[in-house]
Amino acid sequence: MYLLNQQTSEQYLTHMQQTSAVIQQWLDDNNVYLGGTPQQVQDATSVSINAKGRDIEAILADIQGKFLPNCVSTAHRHCLAHLHPPTLVVGQIAEMIIAATNQSMDSWNQSPAATYIEKNLIEWLCQLCQFDTSFESQTNAQINRQYKRQAGGVFTSGGTQSNLMGLLLARNKFYEAQGVDVQKEGLMGQRRGTILCSDQAHFSIEKNAALLGLGVQCVEKVATDSSGAMLLSDLQHKINEIGVDNVMAVVATAGTTDLGAIDPLTNIVKICRNAKIWLHVDAAWGGALLLSQRYRQLIDGIHEADSITLDFHKHFFLPISCGAFLLRDQRDFESIRHHSEYLNPSDDEKDNIPNLVTYSLQTTRRFDALKLWMALDLLGTDDYGALIDTCLDTARQAARLIEANADLVLMHQPIISSVLFYFKPQNQSLTSQQLSQLNRQIAQDLLINNIANVATTQFEQQLCLKFTILNPNTQVSDINTIIEQVVIAGFKRLHISEGKHNDAT
Ligand SMILES: *Cc1c(COP(=O)(O)O)cnc(C)c1O
Repeated sequence: MYLLNQQTSEQYLTHMQQTSAVIQQWLDDNNVYLGGTPQQVQDATSVSINAKGRDIEAILADIQGKFLPNCVSTAHRHCLAHLHPPTLVVGQIAEMIIAATNQSMDSWNQSPAATYIEKNLIEWLCQLCQFDTSFESQTNAQINRQYKRQAGGVFTSGGTQSNLMGLLLARNKFYEAQGVDVQKEGLMGQRRGTILCSDQAHFSIEKNAALLGLGVQCVEKVATDSSGAMLLSDLQHKINEIGVDNVMAVVATAGTTDLGAIDPLTNIVKICRNAKIWLHVDAAWGGALLLSQRYRQLIDGIHEADSITLDFHKHFFLPISCGAFLLRDQRDFESIRHHSEYLNPSDDEKDNIPNLVTYSLQTTRRFDALKLWMALDLLGTDDYGALIDTCLDTARQAARLIEANADLVLMHQPIISSVLFYFKPQNQSLTSQQLSQLNRQIAQDLLINNIANVATTQFEQQLCLKFTILNPNTQVSDINTIIEQVVIAGFKRLHISEGKHNDAT
């Protein structure tokens, strides 16, 4: 009754249909979020487990009544907070297949076809990046390398893990150049190396430096210009100051999480090549521009990185989780090779049987590549790129609407599809602390009142509201509505606090 092949096909189809109907009803209801305050959600979500189970209809009824209304709906056109997209239906279909087949990517005999599909898709992605494999990034050949010099990669759980892989391989190579195998010997007593990234880089760089035993203090932040992009002069200055031989890696960001800023990749490549420094490009967001027809040039130079982070559960509109780590010279995977007799014995390699655990930090691993493959197959690169471009266009129009509103301040012109701004009522002098509090309240009010999901973040000492436009269905008219609601919520809050003030006097 419980396992796939114990159900009759009729039961199976009925349950799947019931589930789809519940989801469809939720989508039709079309709410941003009905859950109210954190306390209200907490009160509404108790988990009770009993000795005897219940039938699926009762459970689905609870999902419909208690879970779904307390979700934020990424499908809603007013859901613009984070890098958190609505998902393509084809991605959801792929998830069904992933769950039903439950292939595991660690060894070929657990995922025969899936292994080759992932490998082929990685190859396709490397070509999409136009990975340049024509030169050696660093001179070392101490390790007897088994792979041909060509690009490679692996699917990951997302940007954080891909960044971890980039830094891990850079770390290993840094010490290898000094004749040290840190995978074996550990870091005790070793010389410190520095990781350089911009002051807008993702926090996972520091988190991963800590995980790698390097310590957060090994991360040095390079200054950025007013658009949030890394300043080349400061990068060069820091490299000179630290000493080329002490720099373990440079991490360039193609699409910073808040501003969508893109570091000047072509020039960073030049600096890193001259100095023989590992360049990792965190393109968790900006990687989507690989498919763009009109904005692709923003990430020119990406093909010359040593390693790249891509995230498909962001601007590629696929369900969580789905990411990739790409490596210009797959021989660099060698330093993290471990053998286990039950998964990837050396004999398999002699027979050319691919067991992808060799390239991954995970052991048991989902077949997330299927989602990207099916989505690319359905849309084709043209329509996929057009969906991505639509979001960038909408962001530019949103910025114009904000500029035209006298009670709003635009922080910057959009680069990818985020827009930072804040409510600042004209003819009123408020301290920056008051403005910060006011804007934070606006974001909360919009969400709790089921109007819109807008994020807040800090930029240039200013607490801002943030649109991250990752929904191709969001129209300029939607943006207009949200902007009006921001202003209404702002004035409402102001009157409440003025009222309180008057009461007190
Ligand atoms: C989102 C993001 C990450 C982290 O990716 P996850 O998939 O959330 O782990 C890393 N870098 C950048 C620039 C990001 O925007």
